[in-house]
Amino acid sequence: MEYSFFFYSFVGINLPQILTKKTIPLSMLNLLLFGPPGSGKGTQSQKIIEKYQLFHFSTGDVLRRHRKEGTELGKQAQEYITAGKLVPDSLIIDLVKTTLRENTQVKGYIFDGFPRTVAQAQALDELMKEQNSAISGMISLLVPDDELRARLKKRAIEENRPDDQDEKVINTRIETYKNETLPVADYYKAQGKLYELNGVGDIEAIFQSICQVIDSMPQ
Ligand code: AMP
Repeated sequence: MEYSFFFYSFVGINLPQILTKKTIPLSMLNLLLFGPPGSGKGTQSQKIIEKYQLFHFSTGDVLRRHRKEGTELGKQAQEYITAGKLVPDSLIIDLVKTTLRENTQVKGYIFDGFPRTVAQAQALDELMKEQNSAISGMISLLVPDDELRARLKKRAIEENRPDDQDEKVINTRIETYKNETLPVADYYKAQGKLYELNGVGDIEAIFQSICQVIDSMPQ
């Protein structure tokens, strides 16, 4: 160690500075907003972005935009979205990779509707490492099935989303959430990063409890 220090000093490299730069992670706030369809992720993320100035990334919104614009990704995703199934991991992970690499100069990210599988969560952890950062915490909104169905029915009228219109598609989305997406909560629980909150009640009160959780996260 001593020899290498002298060597690096001799060639004009400040070794302690390099070591410090490498080991101190950027202090970003990277949040995951988690919950079944209709749990209020979209509504709450709008409020969170405003307060914490984060880069909002909703894979659902981006996919809907691609569908509208008729891109290759939009076409590939179409059949899955219409059926209420998950778009394949490879497509989603590529989309997230590109978006993150194009948006590095941010205070942090809020992921809404992503990751939805353990494979996506593992890929995200790797991408965060690439940025010398990590996920700060996952906020999971808990809402009973009956309430979800009622909210989705209302949203079908208000936002005219085709995947909210059909009862069968709604059932598939809720089942897909339970079977494929819920294990993602265990994945972050094992890392001590899962925060579960009641997602029923006054929007502002739910937002206040989310803020309390965010402010208590280690950064
Ligand atoms: P959302 O608006 O988040 O409910 O997403 C609408 C639909 O887009 C979902 O039902 C899926 O078909 C697809 N989708 C959105 N995000 C993902 C993801 N992370 N993984 C796979 N499919 C997704």
